[in-house]
Amino acid sequence: MTLEKNLKERIKELTCLYEVSSIIVNNDYKEVDKTLYSIALSLRKSFQYSKNTIVEIKAEKLHLITSALPHKSVFIESIITIFNEPKGYIKVHYSTDKFEKKDFLKEEKKLLKNVAINVGDLLERVAIRENEAVIKRKMEHADRLSILGEITAGIAHELNTPLANILGFAELLKGKEPNSTQANKDLDKIINSAIFSREVVKKLMFFACEMPQNFTKTDIVPVIKEAINLLDATFKKNELTCKTTLPKGEILLKADTIQLTQVIFNLVLNAIYFSPKNGLIEITLEETSKKIILKISDEGSGIEPENVQKIFQPFFTTKTVGDGSGLGLSVVHGIIKSHRGTIDYQANNPTGALFIITFPKQ
Ligand code: ADP
Repeated sequence: MTLEKNLKERIKELTCLYEVSSIIVNNDYKEVDKTLYSIALSLRKSFQYSKNTIVEIKAEKLHLITSALPHKSVFIESIITIFNEPKGYIKVHYSTDKFEKKDFLKEEKKLLKNVAINVGDLLERVAIRENEAVIKRKMEHADRLSILGEITAGIAHELNTPLANILGFAELLKGKEPNSTQANKDLDKIINSAIFSREVVKKLMFFACEMPQNFTKTDIVPVIKEAINLLDATFKKNELTCKTTLPKGEILLKADTIQLTQVIFNLVLNAIYFSPKNGLIEITLEETSKKIILKISDEGSGIEPENVQKIFQPFFTTKTVGDGSGLGLSVVHGIIKSHRGTIDYQANNPTGALFIITFPKQ
């Protein structure tokens, strides 16, 4: 190659690198695919036979190509690494009709390597941003729930005493009233309403982690088995299949077994409610070195994205009136929290809801 040609190639290479860094600086994080496409075009321009050059970029879910690939191609390739892990590649192709591998210049290979490093850096920043956004959203959600917990605890405490009084005095009066009078029937209504309200208050106390607990180190495998056995008739009645995967050995957890049963009941009853006929409900318990993980999934409608943030809030329900009070998941959340665990919702694949409960091992 002549000196002049050499110089021209070098200028093209430097121009490309400059362009790539400008494209990256102006990257819009909402449109990373566009950024990558601009990089591919810039790279194509810098190759000796740019008109015949085809650039292909594959990085995680993104896959783009500057023009259709020929039937057979010769190519050079550079791996894109994100956090030191290979996560994709950039390939530059020529059709074998006209070109051979030796048509790629040494400088072009070097340039490709440099661009791949720049793309890797960009995708690392994208990943960090996404991660930060997820953490921020989670923290805001946790914050909101804990403020709600404090308010709820206050209200529940304030209502407890008057409710106990209403119930106590109504029962006292009932004892003095002859049976089957209208007053006696009215007193029954007062008593039943007071009992119902007391149950609501009790659930709110669970949500606010204000219920007394009886923690013992127990093998939770039989606890889960028993809870599911109790629901067996409900599965059959609703024509559903339940698949349980429990470890063979024991799994020890410091837990309140009655409350743990309550958690399983609430989650599985929701799963049953939202399941289609012949749907499958899966319950899995597994253990890692640091965590105990309980998963409950169904094949129902799943939860609308705009509702996911609300499901643990007291009184949020999408069930028809009379079917739900919107307190089931609030109780679950409170119980899990007081066990120092976490509960997360994910969409099940291909449809349905998946709840993942994680307890740290003590
Ligand atoms: P309730 O069951 O009384 O509605 P929950 O607190 O248990 O109250 O649930 C709140 C809401 O979360 C439900 O009304 C529903 O919208 C949603 N939800 C909970 N579990 C599921 C599930 N398995 N599938 C679809 N939606 C669910």
